[in-house]
Formats: sequence, C-alpha cells, structure tokens
Amino acid sequence: MDLAVMQYSVDKIRADFPILKQMIRKYPLVYFDNGATTQKPVKVIEAVDRYYLTINSNIHRGVHYLSNEATDAFEQARKRVATFINAPESREVIFTKGTTESINLVANSLAGFLLKEGDEVMVTEMEHHANIVPWQMVCERVGAKLKVVPISDSGELLVESLDSLLTERVKIIAFAHVSNVLGTINPVQEICAKAHERGILTLVDGAQGIAHQTVDVQSLGCDFYVFSGHKMYAPMGTGVLWGKASLLESMPPYQGGGEMIDKVSFTGTTYNVIPYKFEAGTPDVGGVIGLMAAIDYLTEIDFGSALEYEEGVMHYAYESLKQIEGLRFIGDAKRRTGVISFILNGAHPYDVGSILDHQGIAVRTGHHCAQPLMDRFAIPGTVRASFSIYNTREEVDKLVAGLKVAANMLL
Ligand code: PMP
Repeated sequence: MDLAVMQYSVDKIRADFPILKQMIRKYPLVYFDNGATTQKPVKVIEAVDRYYLTINSNIHRGVHYLSNEATDAFEQARKRVATFINAPESREVIFTKGTTESINLVANSLAGFLLKEGDEVMVTEMEHHANIVPWQMVCERVGAKLKVVPISDSGELLVESLDSLLTERVKIIAFAHVSNVLGTINPVQEICAKAHERGILTLVDGAQGIAHQTVDVQSLGCDFYVFSGHKMYAPMGTGVLWGKASLLESMPPYQGGGEMIDKVSFTGTTYNVIPYKFEAGTPDVGGVIGLMAAIDYLTEIDFGSALEYEEGVMHYAYESLKQIEGLRFIGDAKRRTGVISFILNGAHPYDVGSILDHQGIAVRTGHHCAQPLMDRFAIPGTVRASFSIYNTREEVDKLVAGLKVAANMLL
C-alpha cells in the first residue's frame, strides 16, 4: 500500500458529506446504495448554490455579464471533463442529462444513418436496461436485430464468443465498463480491439465505471464512453457522452431546437458544429458546474488513493459476507469493483432490504434494471451493497450484523 493510501483519512472525507451524519430510524445512516447514486460533497453543493446565487443565466446567447460568466463556467466544465477522462479534445464532450440520455442519443443518431435493415447491434447479457431498450427501439425502427453476448456463471463475458458473434452485419457493440449488478469489470480494451479489427463501433456504458476506475478513453480504445454525473458525486441531471470527434462530426443530430443550429429557415436548417450540434435546448448549467466541482474534489483528495481505499473496504465486505450462512453471491468475476450482489437463500431480497432499512442501512434490492440478467441467473432479484470512497469497515460490520438479524427473522 502506498503512502498516499495509508494517509487517506476516511473521517476527513466523511466530514465533506454532511448527509452521512444523519440518524435514520434512530441509527446512524449506513449508505451502501452508491451504485444508484452517490452522495454529494459540500464543495459540489456550494458550487451549485454559488451558480444560482451569483451567475444564473442562460448560456451561449447573451451579451450581458452574467451570461458570459455562466458560459465561461460551462465551457470550463467541458474542459475539466475532457481532462478527467483524457479525451483528446474538449469538443468531444457532450453534456446530457445522464447515461440513459447519452445512449439514446447515440442509438437514435445512428439509426438510419449507420444502422439499416438487416444490420445487428450487439449488447451483453449483463446490461442495464438503459443499454438494451434504446437499441431495441432503434432496431425495431430500422429493421435491425439485437444480439447478445453471453456471460459465464461467475458473471464474466464470454469474450471468445465474440469471434463468431462479431460478423460483418454487426455495426456497433455496446457494453458496460462495470456491471451494476455483478461488479464485473469488462475487458474493454480487448473487446474494442476485436470490434475495431472488424470495423465495428464500440460504446462503453461507464455509469458504474466512472466512480470506481480512473478512466482514460484513449487507452480504453472505445468510440463512445458515456456516464452520469450523479454516480460520481455530482448533481443529478448531469451526464456525458464522449465520442471521437470524427464520428460525432459525421453523425446527424439527435434532438432539434435552439443551440444545435447554424441557420434556420422554413426551407431547411443547417447544424452547428460539435459539441453544440448535440446539445439542443437549455442545459443544466448549474448541474454541469457542480460536475466540474465534483471532478475538482476528486482530484484534490487524490482519486487514485480514494479508489484503493474503497477497494480495501469492498474486499473486507466480500470476506465478511462470506461468513454468513445461506448467503450466495451473484457474480464472482476475477476483476470486479463497486458492487456486491447476493441473495439470502429462501428470503426475498425486498424483505432483506426492508429489515436492513429498519436498522438505518440503505441497500438496493430488486432486479437493478437488469431483468435479462436476473433471468440468466433464474432469480427474481438480489440485494446489492454498493461502495464509495466514504464507506468504512465499521459500516460493513453493521451490514453483516443487520443481515444476521434478517436471516434470523426470515429463514
Ligand atoms: N447503466 C448502468 C450500468 C447503470 O448502473 C445505470 C444506473 N443505474 C445506468 C446505465 C443509467 O444511468 P442513469 O439513470 O443515470 O441514466
């Protein structure tokens, strides 16, 4: 363990997240639902506050002072995101309202343009609905087919199967960086290399990757990387689509409206350059400024050390949960991060979650917007504990104790 990790003070980090100080049902809050959304540090909350208190204004169109200040801050945020994910150019960063919108944008823009009748779109068995349904919808529209890469019982993608699945009909493969149910870290570079050898585009759903890995889109080698701000300590309603400039430039716009145009007349419209071509309408300027504050916060606290610390807590949780009789993990990949899913044999995940909630412990239960994955494992749902840079081993001990209470009551 390097010095920075040894010096990582979780107490200091926790002090940055006031919500964690709360008592829930007379118990100190234990928040293990970070995969759904992370809590926000004071710096992010203050940055959003400051925006509304001092420079709230619409961007890109005003001549006045506030509009210029807001535009500068918004464009600075774009640069900050580009640096955070090592994008070659900041114009490749498109602000959306989240992962879901980013995927819908790419899917809809490619429909009819790249995707035509008889083509195929490849997703995987472990995808979130956000990376299935938009593709299904555009496939239906253009007469293309959705194909699925299978996974093993331990929750790893059967990457070898890509050799036969990636035929010349496949136009794009869209897959999770990290599974929101299994925690599996997919071999992004290997998949992208296989796809690109065959001229197939790649979209990586980074919703769960962005908060648990340092992301370098150039070294990952993908064509599109998408994520949500709210899962990385930033406000809700913010998200990013990163795409290679050459691709984004050739793709048609997704939504029409203000900002995305160059010249409008009733006989026809020409479009703005990227990124604006894909940013129709007024964006969540305050939220994007909050996203910039979240990136600054992660940089200040040394994100790499924070992740190593978090990994230690997650490993501790995994080993501790193993001791609970009747607990079965769903997903046991060699490379995993962020989330641990399990079922207590015989107990419905919802009942387990409710009993934990009565002890102030927040976990997620259900299908986690991954119903095909639940079908794959023939289960109705799981209990999911998901981790963050502010969780502690003491909290893990409380989770284990809480689960023992649930097991006693339910089994
Ligand atoms: N993909 C994955 C892997 C996710 O975990 C989530 C959020 N649970 C999404 C997509 C959708 O993210 P959002 O709701 O922020 O658009």
